[in-house]
Amino acid sequence: MRLLSKRLLTAAPLCLAPLTACSDEPGPPGVLIITIDTWRADHLSAELTPNLHALAAGGLQLHNAWTPIGLTTAAHASLFTGLLPPEHGLRGNNHHGYRLDESHQTLAEQVKAQGWATGAFVSSYPAGPEGGLHQGFDTSSAPESGERPTAETVGLAQAWLGAQAGPWMMWVHTNDPHGPYAPDAADLAAVGGGDDDKARYRGEVHQADRLLGPLIAEAQARGALIIVTADHGEVHAEERCGWQHERSSSPVVLRVPLVIAGPGVPKGRRDGLVGLTDLAHTALVWAKLPPLPPSKIGGPPLDLLTGEDPSRSTWAAESGVCDPECSPGCAPAGFLGKDLVVFGADLGLYVVRPGFGEYGDQELAAVLENYSLPSEPSENPDVDQGRALGYLDQK
Ligand SMILES: [Zn+2]
Repeated sequence: MRLLSKRLLTAAPLCLAPLTACSDEPGPPGVLIITIDTWRADHLSAELTPNLHALAAGGLQLHNAWTPIGLTTAAHASLFTGLLPPEHGLRGNNHHGYRLDESHQTLAEQVKAQGWATGAFVSSYPAGPEGGLHQGFDTSSAPESGERPTAETVGLAQAWLGAQAGPWMMWVHTNDPHGPYAPDAADLAAVGGGDDDKARYRGEVHQADRLLGPLIAEAQARGALIIVTADHGEVHAEERCGWQHERSSSPVVLRVPLVIAGPGVPKGRRDGLVGLTDLAHTALVWAKLPPLPPSKIGGPPLDLLTGEDPSRSTWAAESGVCDPECSPGCAPAGFLGKDLVVFGADLGLYVVRPGFGEYGDQELAAVLENYSLPSEPSENPDVDQGRALGYLDQK
């Protein structure tokens, strides 16, 4: 049977619910992708995220992973297509009027074409189906507006997973620790308490980890490949404009945590430069399924599970929007004046800021030769949805 490769047959134990009934028989393959919205790369630790810390200890932790953009819908489009924003066309969120065109192939469509069951369970409007991110998912669950509690999303995901007896792929998205930060009291206490934004953010990170723990345990028991990352980080008042992510091109927004675990996954820490565009490819290689079309401007995707330290020489990214109050000199305000940035594996940096100019390491400038500035979103924005989540009006 094509779907059950020899590698998976030997790797995945049959541990369908109830978990106590696990046997050594091989089970169907499964892939769990978790995205924790607004989770910073420096907030993965034994204290803040004990479940994810343990998962990383038994698998792979990539310390130099990056998103191409600090906006939810667009970053997830890159994760699921393997393409950079100029290629898939999303330079902002769905409430800004951007939507992934159905002509693009996604990870969910690729596994669904091979007979896998696919489920998407997300916790905020920008991660919802209105941005085209749910194409290829048989089951699609999202709040109709704003956000919903992580516990509700995870509960729906657990119920769906419990009903799967064949190959499956699931995407689970939490909107903790996206603002507003309002963790449960127990989670705030678990990270040392406090009454400022930094403490509440830490509490929401702990809350997401706590609520995801049982789902991760079940996926592990089923022998799944588990990938946990963020769509982007968050500025914690290190810059102008305080607490936000959509108006910055700095590493605190564009660098993300990344943990991969499961049968056949090498163990250890990796420091090579990798990106969200490598994840769909890595999952498809693991599952021995056909690849997605490669990115033309980002280069071929990396398989992160080879055992070597994977590394790109450069990573191209962009800010969400130009806000001259936050990025001095940028123009025009909005999507057309956003920063384009290249990070080098040797820590070099090159920035193009429309209206202001370019600066940094000129040797990195060639990376942006085919990286276009955005055009205006083609659909009507839903500014009320943006406001509900704390975004400035754009468009
Ligand atoms: Zn987000």
